[in-house]
Amino acid sequence: MMIVIMDRTASLATINSVLRFVEDSGCTPHVSKGDEKTIIGVVGDDRALLSEKMQTMPGVEKVIQTAKPYRLVSREWKPENTVIDVNDIKIGGGDLTVIAGPCGVESETQLLEIAHAVKEAGASILRGGAFKPRTSPYSFQGLGERGLELLAKAREATGLAVITEVVTPNQVPLVSQYADILQIGARNSQNYSLLQEIGKLRKPVMLKRGMMSNLEEYLMAAEYILANGNYNVILCERGIRTFETSTRNTMDISAIPLLKSLSHLPMFADPSHATGKRSLVAPVAKAAVAAGADGLMIEVHNHPEKALSDGIQALLPESFAELMKDLKKLGLALNRQV
Ligand code: PEP
Ligand code: MN
Repeated sequence: MMIVIMDRTASLATINSVLRFVEDSGCTPHVSKGDEKTIIGVVGDDRALLSEKMQTMPGVEKVIQTAKPYRLVSREWKPENTVIDVNDIKIGGGDLTVIAGPCGVESETQLLEIAHAVKEAGASILRGGAFKPRTSPYSFQGLGERGLELLAKAREATGLAVITEVVTPNQVPLVSQYADILQIGARNSQNYSLLQEIGKLRKPVMLKRGMMSNLEEYLMAAEYILANGNYNVILCERGIRTFETSTRNTMDISAIPLLKSLSHLPMFADPSHATGKRSLVAPVAKAAVAAGADGLMIEVHNHPEKALSDGIQALLPESFAELMKDLKKLGLALNRQV
């Protein structure tokens, strides 16, 4: 991997000549303009550039070669945290962003009731799947476009931003029309044609960690989206497969500070899918915040016993409101707004 750090005094013309040089060598430059310096990430086969003495070009302070396979997601390319603005919510900007809502959109009354409740409790983004990637083909698969319409309705009624999952590349244009943030689920985390399609957009996307992905594989999946030009990516730890069977997945808490040190992207945690148990959601949510998560994604249902998916891990609106109160206290201790 090659990353070119430009001198802080480098002029626009010198930067442009480096960009041209990279392009002439058949590579694609990706520019990261920091407060202090401009850093150029080189995507493509950079062997030709290595033999050219990139280091001696005017304006070039340093050329870094690292053994890491990822480039644009790395802190080397972008030392500052990425802050993603969604309707004035600054994701990754230091405050805690809470996404809450049902696993799936089931009906207008279900969604609106939950949306009002989570808004009241202090969430800023509403979740709800319209296209559900289910383990069983016989399970509820989501309401499809009707579900998207209901999410838009809930946004209008509450002012909450909306996140929803896109499952296949050909759904991307439709889901983009409705969602403020697109979600790529754990099962699709390494669906490279979907990642490429999402990469062509500029809309924010939350890429969940694949249940079998190690951190390098996960960051490489995010790299697909950035390499295609979409830098608005949010990471989310949602538990991984281990030998433990008493929880649905195993929350990899250390992935939170680790990914934050390796990458500039905002880092969320989903304690609902990580644990699969209602009683574990609040404690694991607090642990994730203490570990440095920029935000949480939490499943909430007004009638969990009737939920068409994941009722067993959904918090009741009252318990979610309690958790939000605790998170506010935790935020005070950590000097972060919740
Ligand atoms: C979800 O958030 O609705 C979901 C299906 O989660 P995951 O992809 O992490 O399993
Ligand atoms: Mn779910």
